[in-house]
Amino acid sequence: MTVHLPDSIGPEFLQAWRKKRLRSLLIWSPALIPLAWGAIIALLYWKGGGLLHFINEYWETNALWLIYVIIPAPLAVLGSVLVAYALVRECRPIAVPYCRTCRRADHALPLICPICGEPMTEHRNYAYLSFDEDKELAVFYGLKDEAD
Ligand SMILES: [Zn+2]
Repeated sequence: MTVHLPDSIGPEFLQAWRKKRLRSLLIWSPALIPLAWGAIIALLYWKGGGLLHFINEYWETNALWLIYVIIPAPLAVLGSVLVAYALVRECRPIAVPYCRTCRRADHALPLICPICGEPMTEHRNYAYLSFDEDKELAVFYGLKDEAD
């Protein structure tokens, strides 16, 4: 869903969008870290034979706790933080060139309107909403889908 952010609503909507996204991340992050942890352990068993052999050879003991905790834990936390950062960073307006006479926004380069051929000198702010709760928020603020 692509919505136009008018100057009157834009900052208020963006603040609410970020708050809602952060709230969702706080709810889902306890599940995200164990999932990433499990994926890293599966990856280690699948493709990490050399590393597992090296760890068992170097310590000369059964160092499975090291494989289960020390290696995947920081990677899982780091991966989860990066995913959270990317999801929050997504909550920003994107300035798109706009033709006032045709009332059309277009990313195409060069910045010439594909309908009337005039140069597109203005920009309008748009937000690309991918999750259902984002779309619900846009409907709450009265923003309409302008993907067409
Ligand atoms: Zn035009």
